[in-house]
Amino acid sequence: MPTATAALEVENLTVDFKRRGTTPLRAVDDVTFTLHPGHTLALVGESGSGKSTVVRALSRLITPSEGRISLAGAERTRPAAYRSAVQMVFQDPFASLNPAHTVAHHLRRPLLVSGAATRADVDARTTSLLDSVNLTPTADIARKRPHELSGGQRQRVAIARALAPEPDVLLADEPVSMLDVSIRLEILGLLDRLKEERRLALLYVTHDLATARHFAADVMVMYRGQIVERGPSDEVILRPRHPYTQLLASAAPGAAGSRERAREARAARLAARGSRSAELREPADARDEGCRFRARCPFAMERCAQRPPVVELDGTGHASRCWLEAAPD
Ligand code: ADP
Ligand code: MG
Repeated sequence: MPTATAALEVENLTVDFKRRGTTPLRAVDDVTFTLHPGHTLALVGESGSGKSTVVRALSRLITPSEGRISLAGAERTRPAAYRSAVQMVFQDPFASLNPAHTVAHHLRRPLLVSGAATRADVDARTTSLLDSVNLTPTADIARKRPHELSGGQRQRVAIARALAPEPDVLLADEPVSMLDVSIRLEILGLLDRLKEERRLALLYVTHDLATARHFAADVMVMYRGQIVERGPSDEVILRPRHPYTQLLASAAPGAAGSRERAREARAARLAARGSRSAELREPADARDEGCRFRARCPFAMERCAQRPPVVELDGTGHASRCWLEAAPD
């Protein structure tokens, strides 16, 4: 639903990858969400669930098979304007920086190309970017090459580079998962501060529920291309309703109490819904309409082979895409 405060709207995004001799792989299936200025939305899911494919579609590195991605402000649809407005931070800062170039070079280029700086003020703008990501003394850092920096410093350079064109939207794809555990929270704290100061619409992609809950107002849980549950972070992570989210939450360290809650929820549902059908198989076809989780789901029923409904659970925006939530026939 279009709103005045949307920075980026994604409607029914679907991405298929062709596979030789078989049906295409549907890596992203009918995903809809909105990013708002000054807000963080977390996209969580295990490896292979399609998170990076969403990010690549939003960065226009790949063309969606279906759906619409629209940036606030009509002029922003021009390719160069879109590229400036939607910036990315990747998992591996070393791979995303050029070993031959200095830090200053990495920042000057996007400043000049995007028009965010002129030749006259590009040095001052470079210094101010380094300052804003706490890379000081700025003059020393500016002269260095990526291999002379620590992993955390490299990721700060990658963040500064993403900020150079003055984006509205920042897509951070597992931005700390390759960094030392000891500096992860610092980098996430930095992204959080920059989001506030610059009113960035931040998409935080992670497999880590604990940091998703801490840094994101809202969470979407993805499983094999589909958003299975979404809503305010505390709702989704502390009171998960979809069996897949319950599984994730019960396995997550630091999600205190969720294991107990998930077990109770499971027991209650089993009692209420009767036992599962034994006849369920792993979906063979990527275009399978049914719930992708049904082969692993302790509650799977016959009708899970049909497209599950997205059910709003309360007034908070918490929704689960699951037949368990549907009104009984
Ligand atoms: P995640 O980031 O959640 O780990 P990805 O988006 O990288 O997941 O991948 C989702 C699925 O799409 C995986 O099954 C992956 O193998 C497949 N995939 C990703 N990129 C391609 C591609 N270019 N061609 C074919 N399959 C791909
Ligand atoms: Mg990924």
